Amino acid sequence: MIIVNEPLFIGNEKKYLQECIETGWISSEGSFVKKFEEQFTSYLGVKHGIAVANGTVSLELALRALELEKGSEVIIPSHTIISCVMAVLNCDLVPVLVDVDPYNWTIDVNQVKDKISKKTKVIMPVHMFGHSCDMDPIMELAEKHGLYVLEDAAEVHGGKYKGKYCGSFGHLSSFSFYANKIITTGEGGMVTTDDEKLAEKCRYYRNLCFQPQQRFLHEDLGFNFRITNLQAAVGMAQVEVFDKLISIKKKQGAIYTEAFKENNAFQIQKVEPWAEHVYWVFGLLLKDDVEFDGKEWAKRLIELKVQTRPFFWGMHEQPALHKLGFFKNEHYPVTEKLSRRGLYVPSGMALTDEQMKQVIEAVKQTTN
Ligand SMILES: *Cc1c(COP(=O)(O)O)cnc(C)c1O
Repeated sequence: MIIVNEPLFIGNEKKYLQECIETGWISSEGSFVKKFEEQFTSYLGVKHGIAVANGTVSLELALRALELEKGSEVIIPSHTIISCVMAVLNCDLVPVLVDVDPYNWTIDVNQVKDKISKKTKVIMPVHMFGHSCDMDPIMELAEKHGLYVLEDAAEVHGGKYKGKYCGSFGHLSSFSFYANKIITTGEGGMVTTDDEKLAEKCRYYRNLCFQPQQRFLHEDLGFNFRITNLQAAVGMAQVEVFDKLISIKKKQGAIYTEAFKENNAFQIQKVEPWAEHVYWVFGLLLKDDVEFDGKEWAKRLIELKVQTRPFFWGMHEQPALHKLGFFKNEHYPVTEKLSRRGLYVPSGMALTDEQMKQVIEAVKQTTN
């Protein structure tokens, strides 16, 4: 079986982990945490990094740092992971959805305009599958209406928008280092920002709102969102080979693109002129006139020993959110189509050329 996502360790991971064990520095107090934050952010050209336990709490921490009035609205795409909505709800804020573009699958900026109200405080663009959102019009809208921008950059490590790294546009950005992400620490995440005050807030809330003047005296309630030195050690080793990791992803993207660009059965993600795509995963979307759906396609591919994953299920179609009274009669047709007719093929860091050939053959065989 060719599995959908297998990580690859080509750097100093073992060496740094061994160092943690030998020195006894395994908690978040160890020196790799700061080093990882510094190296990751200096690569992106951002001033501050706050490493945390995962990409879900990273989103929450970023929103928390803004200290917004209860009930403020956050605009997010309907086609995303539940983490985005959870972060909003956990901060007592209100999620407002917009659909995504039918071709590049990132947030539809024209629809964002229509959803801005007096209560809107944040736009949360989610870079999708390694391809950046259209950041210029988002930043313009935010400026015009006095809004914050929080980029969810979990899927776009090293990807660029008009020559500048994703995760360096928003007032805050959020990364995940889950095992299937381009840089991974197993579980992990990071908030990045150029704003010193927001960075301070993030550090404060990350660590139980401890304050330097009097330990164990608390003015506010925070969280334990800390990352361990063990995780940061692995992250550090990966940042050292960041260029290499990105070039592996780009090569995979080029091979799949060449194989899949001309066919009658499915579309691939459109690469906009503004984007430097890092192909975190390679998505395929069945055309409307194909008589089977994504689920059936996945089944056929499994029979050929190719594991796949479906696209996200729309936020407006989540029973857990309906129960809370959200999005009940809302419809986002592009998202609905993506969730039913899309899947992504094996895209892990450890994927070999030989395996890619097999994947390509299987995809062709199932769509002939
Ligand atoms: C992976 C991912 C997250 C969540 O990250 P975890 O580390 O798994 O909590 C958030 N947003 C997006 C877009 C993701 O792909």
